[in-house]
Amino acid sequence: MALPKLREFITPADAQGVLNALRNYQDRALIVAGGTFLHGLESRGLLTHVEALIDIQRLGLDYLESGKDGLKLGATALFADLETMPEIRNDPWLGAIKDALVFPPVQVKNAATIGGSVAASCPFFDVPISFMCLDGVVKCRGSSGMRDIPMQEFFTGLFANAMENGEFMVELAIPRPRTRSASAFMKVETNANDLAILNAAVRIDVDESGTCSDARVIAGGGVGETPIRLSDAEQVLVRQRLTPEICARAGLSAKGSVNPISDHRASAAYRSEMTRVMVNRALRQALDRLRQ
Ligand SMILES: Cc1cc2nc3c(=O)[nH]c(=O)nc-3n(C[C@H](O)[C@H](O)[C@H](O)COP(=O)(O)OP(=O)(O)OC[C@H]3O[C@@H](n4cnc5c(N)ncnc54)[C@H](O)[C@@H]3O)c2cc1C
Repeated sequence: MALPKLREFITPADAQGVLNALRNYQDRALIVAGGTFLHGLESRGLLTHVEALIDIQRLGLDYLESGKDGLKLGATALFADLETMPEIRNDPWLGAIKDALVFPPVQVKNAATIGGSVAASCPFFDVPISFMCLDGVVKCRGSSGMRDIPMQEFFTGLFANAMENGEFMVELAIPRPRTRSASAFMKVETNANDLAILNAAVRIDVDESGTCSDARVIAGGGVGETPIRLSDAEQVLVRQRLTPEICARAGLSAKGSVNPISDHRASAAYRSEMTRVMVNRALRQALDRLRQ
């Protein structure tokens, strides 16, 4: 891996040490967590300016907590640990995370962190959109304290996000829903080690009468420079008693709301059609989970 300007590898023992290093090096510093995406960034020529790598693994941010308000996932907690959390394995509300964690290879899951997967801001990743459909909130720290960024406002472009220079992510919070809720994630890929051609994550909340009170429909993997929330598809679901027919209508609406890219993996037309199929299937999966 070529980092022609690299001068220092810094391993701070606390958050202040990270902030000092970020202040000293400004945009010439790069946070490193699991390191699994550094090659992906380097091979796109995005690290030629980097003079300092700041390893955040000694900060004690590898916790996974569940409380009455929801989940608190430390930025350096590993995918491998997340997938063994009993709630992730069993709770229909968190089904989208369980589904998304099926895809990364085991070697990646043993090194990749929650913070790295979100902060990388790659529109083809799977795990971040599962957090997005659950209204995840990025908690980041900077010199003036802590700041919350809702995941739906976090991604601002290809490999770009709403964190400012001098800030880094310390936690992802996922609020516990107040009603019955289920989520699901689906992906189309060319092979088991590939980035998504198209992925979709959905959540449905239902009230006591079984009517959908809220919904999230998120698509990623080539629908744009960032994953996108498909509000029109959500509106097809809200205030309805959910049936396979309603799920199919939401899928159709999702297809009509995206304007995907064409690349060597798939054409825009194929991605559009797969948006319909994956949103429909993910909603059916979430519906099945609600009924269990
Ligand atoms: C072979 C392979 C297969 C993969 N398959 C999948 C898949 O199927 N599904 C999927 O979703 N993903 C997949 N991925 C992507 C993987 O999820 C990411 O590489 C991983 O989550 C990044 O986490 P990391 O801790 O290694 O981050 P790093 O590589 O350490 O960092 C990635 C980026 O995030 C920044 N960063 C990291 N932590 C922070 C922080 N706390 N605050 C601010 N910035 C930070 C870094 O500066 C860097 O820009 C795959 C990757 C590989 C290499």
